[in-house]
Amino acid sequence: MRSFFSDKTAIITGAASGIGLALSRELYARGAVVVMADRDAAGLAAAIASLGGAGLRASFTVVDVTDAAAVRSLIGGAVARHGRLDYLFNNAGIGVVGDARDLSLEDWRTVVDTNLFGTVHGVAAAYPVMAKQGFGHIVNTASLAGLVPSPGEISYTASKYAVVGLSESLRIEARDLGVKVSVVCPGLIDTPFLRNIKLIGIDRQQLLQILPGLMAPEHCARKILHGVERNKPMILVTSLAWWFWRINRISPGLMRWIWLRFARKVRQLRKNV
Ligand code: NAD
Repeated sequence: MRSFFSDKTAIITGAASGIGLALSRELYARGAVVVMADRDAAGLAAAIASLGGAGLRASFTVVDVTDAAAVRSLIGGAVARHGRLDYLFNNAGIGVVGDARDLSLEDWRTVVDTNLFGTVHGVAAAYPVMAKQGFGHIVNTASLAGLVPSPGEISYTASKYAVVGLSESLRIEARDLGVKVSVVCPGLIDTPFLRNIKLIGIDRQQLLQILPGLMAPEHCARKILHGVERNKPMILVTSLAWWFWRINRISPGLMRWIWLRFARKVRQLRKNV
């Protein structure tokens, strides 16, 4: 049976793990042609093997999204091979958690280069192609941390707020050219992200213990595709994201009060760095 995504070409960055891998699998299962990109070559090889190996409908490219030329070549290569580009999922991302006093400028640059400029590089390469085609959909993964204040991860929050602003603005600009833009704002998803995130002066086990429940990446991927099918401007994933987004709109003061309590808990975990 044909699905909404049958025969559509989709590029997914950050496809070797977590949400990007789950998205790739779900799109593939629904008949899409998937081009999986990640900087983790071994992870990508395992990911593609889990789809039954590379073939006409699944390919992979090792790309670091902080490298504009590499992202341009990823997108140009996919268009040359498949003749069209229906979806770009700008999903690759990293995070750093720690007290703002402990963040180095290098930490700031790495987070902004990956999360913001990684997305910018994808948009810069794919949007002109999609505008020329007169169709296409750019789906940028931000975070709940791109919608509400998130103490303890201010470089991440800054990069994700920027991705939300970029996406919401481009959506309006792109509309008359036939290009759709959505931004995905997940709450907490059970991926290696939280286990691999760089922690500065914070104990990982203690941090994981104070986080609320996590959603499975497969469930998250289905929620994302549900929103993409409906061309939602913003795709909120998890009830935590839904509630926090609404509380912040209705009462930003209440949101600050909730986060202040969390920030104090995190500060108690801070070790000398
Ligand atoms: P993950 O760590 O499981 O996967 C991220 C993937 O991105 C990895 O395969 C990694 O190799 C890749 N990547 C990182 N930097 C890259 C770069 N410079 N170039 C190419 N690939 C790169 O994490 P995830 O949870 O699947 O995260 C996917 C996206 O979702 C990220 O943008 C993250 O910020 C966002 N997000 C995650 C959560 C969560 O709770 N897991 C919540 C909100 C938003």
